[in-house]
Amino acid sequence: MTINTEHFKEKLKAELKIVETELESVGRKNPSNPLDWEAKEGDIDVDVAEEAEIAEGIEQYENNSAILKQLETRYNEVKDALAKIDLGTYGICEISGLPIEEDRLEANPAARTCKAHMND
Ligand SMILES: [Zn+2]
Repeated sequence: MTINTEHFKEKLKAELKIVETELESVGRKNPSNPLDWEAKEGDIDVDVAEEAEIAEGIEQYENNSAILKQLETRYNEVKDALAKIDLGTYGICEISGLPIEEDRLEANPAARTCKAHMND
């Protein structure tokens, strides 16, 4: 059985777009390294900000950083999966080298491993 890579390519591309939009809502591309994202600070005017506002801004920055980290990980997974499609190695378990179950790919098109190795 061969996997319909075109189908998964479309799914991955759609997901990449969503993740990119989400990344833009909590972060911005690092101007000196476009592959790197940094979290947005809260919108505060430091000159006039009250202490509470500064604390709020910092909290927002920390929340954004946490979300950003997760999104970045997902972004890279999806990018890797797309690269594998181009290389012809898509849908192969990175641990056993066996084909990844189609329903697993359907649930997570960026899966790197088969069901037997999904927690490794
Ligand atoms: Zn495996």
